[in-house]
Amino acid sequence: MKKWNMIIDVAECTNCNLCTLSAMDEYVGNAWPGYSAPMPRHGHRWIDIKQKERGQGTMVDVAYVPTMCNHCDDAPCVAKGGGAVKKRDDGIVLIDPVASKGRKDLVESCPHGQIWWNEELQIPQAWTFDAHLLDQGWQQTRGQQACPTGAMRAIKADDDEMARMASEESLEVMKPEAGTRPRVYYRNLWRFSKCFIGGSVASEANGVVDCVEGAAVRLLKDGAEVATAATDNYGDFKFDRLDEDSGGYTIEISGLGRTKTIQAKLGVSISLGEIRI
Ligand code: SF4
Ligand code: SF4
Repeated sequence: MKKWNMIIDVAECTNCNLCTLSAMDEYVGNAWPGYSAPMPRHGHRWIDIKQKERGQGTMVDVAYVPTMCNHCDDAPCVAKGGGAVKKRDDGIVLIDPVASKGRKDLVESCPHGQIWWNEELQIPQAWTFDAHLLDQGWQQTRGQQACPTGAMRAIKADDDEMARMASEESLEVMKPEAGTRPRVYYRNLWRFSKCFIGGSVASEANGVVDCVEGAAVRLLKDGAEVATAATDNYGDFKFDRLDEDSGGYTIEISGLGRTKTIQAKLGVSISLGEIRI
C-alpha cells in the first residue's frame, strides 16, 4: 500500500519561512473536525525551521532545516496515547483533538519535540501532514505549495520503494537513534548534523604572501588516513561530513616541496585559518 512520506532537501532551504507561515495560515483560527483544532495565533510552529551555522572567519556556512511531526511508524506518541493518537493506514499520525483533551503528558512523549501544547484548548497538537487536504485529493501539502525552491516534496510510495529510494539517494531521518522510524526524510542533512575541518594554505616569498593551489592535504585519525584533498586556487581545503565531538585529528599538508603537520581537536566545525608552509 502506498503511504505518505516527505522528502526535504536541506541544500535547497533558504529559511524564507513560507512553509511555516502557510501552516499558520491553514490552521490558525481554523478547525478541521476529525483532524485538528485551531492552532493558537502565538507560540506554535508546527513547521519549524532549525538553523546551524558552521565554521569561523571566512570559512562559514549556514544550513536551514524545516522540521515537523515526522509521522513516525514506531511513534511513542501513539503508544502513549491510548487511542488519543492514531496511525492511519496511509502512514499519517493524527492526534485526536477531542480524545486528547487534557493529555499534556503527550508533549513529552515525542522525542523529536514536535508536539505543542495548546493552553487555551488544553490539547496537544502537531502538524497533521495536511491530512484534511490530502483526503480531498491534494497531492501536495500547503508548505510544499508555498515553497519557492522545491525544498520539500510529499510523495506517496510503498514502504519498500521508499526504503530503496532512501538508500539510493542517501536520505536520512532526524534522530535515528530514537528508533521511531520517521516518514520525513532529509537530503543533505549532513550540512546540519555533521561538521568540518578546513583551512587556507599560503606561502611567503620575497615578502609576498600568496595562496598555495594544489597542495596535497591528508586527514588522519589515530594514524590512519581518513580523507585526502587538494587546495583550490584560494589555497582552501575542507574535510566535511565529520562527526561532531570526534576528537583529535592530524592534518598533513604537502606543497612547494615542504610538509607541515597540524593537530586539531574536533568538537564543532573548525577553520584553522591561514596555514603557512
Ligand atoms: S514526530 Fe513525535 S509527534 Fe510526530 S509521530 Fe513521531 S513521535 Fe509522534
Ligand atoms: S518554504 Fe521552502 S525554502 Fe522556505 S523555509 Fe520552507 S522549506 Fe525552506
